Order: sequence, then structure tokens, then C-alpha cells
Amino acid sequence: MAKTYALPPLPYGYDALEPHISKQIMTLHHDKHHQAYVNGANAALEKLEKSRKGEAQIDVRAVLRDYSFNVNGHILHSIFWPNMAPPGKGGGSPGGSIGDWVNRDFGGFDKFKAQFSDAAKTVEGSGWALLLHDPETDSLVLTQVEKQNFMHLAGMTVLLGLDVWEHAYYLQYLNDRAKYVDAWWNVVNWSDVDSRLSKVKK
Ligand code: MN
Repeated sequence: MAKTYALPPLPYGYDALEPHISKQIMTLHHDKHHQAYVNGANAALEKLEKSRKGEAQIDVRAVLRDYSFNVNGHILHSIFWPNMAPPGKGGGSPGGSIGDWVNRDFGGFDKFKAQFSDAAKTVEGSGWALLLHDPETDSLVLTQVEKQNFMHLAGMTVLLGLDVWEHAYYLQYLNDRAKYVDAWWNVVNWSDVDSRLSKVKK
């Protein structure tokens, strides 16, 4: 296989985000859930390759759907982990360019935080709230992703993502997704978000 995806290590310990996100959640989320997306993306690529070689018959529509679901899961989680940092290092309000851009495009950090939180809390079922850079307007926009591959905005770059699948919070917050979303702001790694913005802004 020419192309394979690999699970990146967490950039901190499994317990580093406590008390906001428990060690148990981080361990299962990274080692089991993220690994499953990596495996699923690789398996889909392998099926496509075997089909091209005439070694397997596949439903290409189903395999490509599976590929998009799993590869998006892999990419979003690979951004999600460094988007967070231990409390003290993470949290607070953004400085640098990202702070200026949030103020410019959302009318202030409080307004951004409220709208992003609202997006995260209202995802129907499993999904994500994302802060994106739109190259067309060279500005920041929000989206809400259902599951991992619906409402994807083509060509935009993810700067900050919040996973609101139940596997991201249920073991600690049960059905109180809003409490998890509110606690998550204490571990947002703004310097990581700023460095992602610096790579795409014009
Ligand atoms: Mn997840």
C-alpha cells in the first residue's frame, strides 16, 4: 500500500486535561476511537486498490463513503488533540493574530465563544463544531459537522474543533453535553490555533 494513515501520539499525558476531561475518556478516545478511524481509512484505501487490481469486487459508493467518514474522523481528531492543552497553559482568551481575527470577524471573544458553544451544544446527534479559515474571504467562519462528513465546507481549513460525539464526554458528563462544552474552554490551546491561522492567512 502506497498511502497509509497512522495514529499520532497525544501531545500530552492521558490525564493532562483533568479535571475538565478525564484520563479514562482521553485514553479510550485516542487509543480506541481515533485508532478505529485510522484503521477504517486504511481499510477503505486497501479495498479501492484491490478493486483496481481486479482482486476484489466492491460497492465503490459505499467504500468512498466509508473512506470519507473515517479519514475525516482521523483528520479532525489529529487537529483536536493539539487544539487542547493542560489547564493553565490552555484556556483563557486568544492573543496574537487569532485574537485580532476573532475580534474582527465575530465582534469580540465573548460573542465568538457564545456562538461556537451554541453550535457545539446544538449538533443534532454526533458531530463537531469547527472554526474555519475561508480562503475566499480570508476570514474566520463557523460550521457544525454532523457525524464526521456532512456539512463539510470545501477548501476551508480547520483551525479549532470541538468533538461532541458522546464518546468525547459521556463517561464524565453523562448526557450533559452543555457542561462538557463549557468546561472545554479551559483547555483550548490558543497558541496552536494561532499557528494554524498563520499558515493559511493571506
Ligand atoms: Mn471523537
